[in-house]
Amino acid sequence: VGPTSAQAPVRLTPQRAAVLDVVRASRDHPTAREIFARVGTVRPGIGFATVYRALGLLAAHGLVRELNLGDGASVRYDGNTRPHQHVVCTDCGSFADVSVELPSTIADAVSTATGYAVKGYDVRFQGRCPNCGPAAAPPGR
Ligand SMILES: [Zn+2]
Ligand SMILES: [Zn+2]
Repeated sequence: VGPTSAQAPVRLTPQRAAVLDVVRASRDHPTAREIFARVGTVRPGIGFATVYRALGLLAAHGLVRELNLGDGASVRYDGNTRPHQHVVCTDCGSFADVSVELPSTIADAVSTATGYAVKGYDVRFQGRCPNCGPAAAPPGR
């Protein structure tokens, strides 16, 4: 399986395979620490440094996707390597995939506005997740 890539395939040691399995099985875009805790349940004794290095390697080979939120938050990892967008909860920080098709004119509009030959985009929507409830009702009753 694995993506078509010009790079040499990564050698999947049992530890790396365990890390990859955990990321692919996780829908919540876990951080390295969270992945470390989950891998520990299947491979007790694995070190954090090993997990961290494996994540870097898997990301470099396109087997997992690194999501850098760029606001000082920990990098998250995504086992879904197909193009998709994300929505993040402004209250609890939960992070979900968005499979809604965005208008293809977005890239064209950005190209026109900036002169860049836009090849893709990574959109992050923000709002309250269902667990945190709808936004507070506007004041005034
Ligand atoms: Zn939430
Ligand atoms: Zn995702």
